[in-house]
Amino acid sequence: MENRYINEDYALLGAEMIRTEPSLQHILDSQATIVFLSSDCEKRSNGRLVYAQCERVPWKWKWAVPCDFTVTVFDANVARFTDEQMRILLLHELLHVGIDRDGNEERYFLVPHDVEDFREVIDRFGLEWNGQAGKAKRARRGSARPDGARE
Ligand SMILES: [Zn+2]
Repeated sequence: MENRYINEDYALLGAEMIRTEPSLQHILDSQATIVFLSSDCEKRSNGRLVYAQCERVPWKWKWAVPCDFTVTVFDANVARFTDEQMRILLLHELLHVGIDRDGNEERYFLVPHDVEDFREVIDRFGLEWNGQAGKAKRARRGSARPDGARE
C-alpha cells in the first residue's frame, strides 16, 4: 500500500519556487495553500515513470485536509534527479495550480497540460529535461537500462 508523508524539504523548495518564479506569481498573490508530500510508491502510468502529481483537494475533504492542493513526489522515481531537475519538477507541478478570481473570491482548479509538458518548461529547459527521451530510444532498441540512469 502506498504511504504519503509531509516533506518539509519539498515545502521549502516549493515556497522558494513560488517566491522567485514569475509564472507562479498568481500563487504568491493568492490564499491558496499547498502541502508537499513524499510517496513511497514507484508510480507508473502507461509504463512511464511518474515523478510527481499535483492534486486539488476536493471540497468535501476540506474538513479533514487543511489545504487546497497537494503536490506529491514519488521519491523512488526522482532518486537520480539533480537539484535543477527537482526545481523544474516542482515548477511543473506548481504550474498545475489554477486560480480564478472574482472580487475577493478565489476559485481553485487544476490547470491541464497545454502540450505533453508545459510550453514554458519545454521552451526554457527542452523536452528532454527529465532525461527520459534517451531512455525511451534505448527501450525501443531493446537495451534500456533498468536503473533509468541519465545519459
Ligand atoms: Zn503535469
